[in-house]
Amino acid sequence: MSWHATALTLFPEMFPGTLGHSLAGRALREGKWSLDTLQIRDFATDKHRTVDDTPFGGGAGMVMRPDVMDAACAAALSDGAARPLVYMTPRGRLLDQALVRELVAGPGIVLVCGRYEGLDQRVIEARGMREVSVGDYVLSGGEPAALVLLDACVRLLPGVMGGATSAEEESFSAGGAPLLEYPHYTRPAEWDGRAVPDVLLSGHHAEVARWRRGMAEAATRERRPDLWSRRTPAGALSN
Ligand code: SAM
Repeated sequence: MSWHATALTLFPEMFPGTLGHSLAGRALREGKWSLDTLQIRDFATDKHRTVDDTPFGGGAGMVMRPDVMDAACAAALSDGAARPLVYMTPRGRLLDQALVRELVAGPGIVLVCGRYEGLDQRVIEARGMREVSVGDYVLSGGEPAALVLLDACVRLLPGVMGGATSAEEESFSAGGAPLLEYPHYTRPAEWDGRAVPDVLLSGHHAEVARWRRGMAEAATRERRPDLWSRRTPAGALSN
């Protein structure tokens, strides 16, 4: 059984979206991972197929009903595979590479895509949903957030990425230090009056590695002091 993703959404046509292309798309067609969608509206019980209602306590917007979402979750989990339910929400834990690696190690994922003001809190709690945010900004719906999370997961699945080493060397890689990646250069060696750093043309692998490490550390220190301060001497994150 390949890694299996199910998206609960009011807009199934948004999937696989960008993931139908390039390496992820090819891997999907080759069955290295699988994706299906459930239309949340199919689980509404009234003739208007209502999925939302006004918020208790007043205020703007609409809230997605817990009973309808619960029925959609039950359908998604009916195959018995212990896939985590992940609700995409700006209130969630920020997505990072550690969470991506954890999700990839399991059998797959069920992604809950909110719309309107989001889900009734009770179904989040009753279903033990993990709440995940893709950043400190507000999207109009959970679908683009779900695609971001899926993209990050799928590229780590066995056989999806061509050059396995690039996943190991890049920013936030599993084996190395939690550093931003060093800068990249390709031909021409001089462009627009700008030369490629000499060391990269030297053919001296140890010096190239040392230079890259220094650049990665400098970028992390300058751009992401939060990451830098969480490093332990061994290079692992401290939490
Ligand atoms: N009222 C919500 C709030 O202020 O937290 C925002 C609701 S947003 C308009 C609609 C849906 O988009 C959310 O239920 C969630 O599924 C999704 N969404 C918006 N921003 C997101 C983010 N940064 N990360 C993950 N999902 C997000």
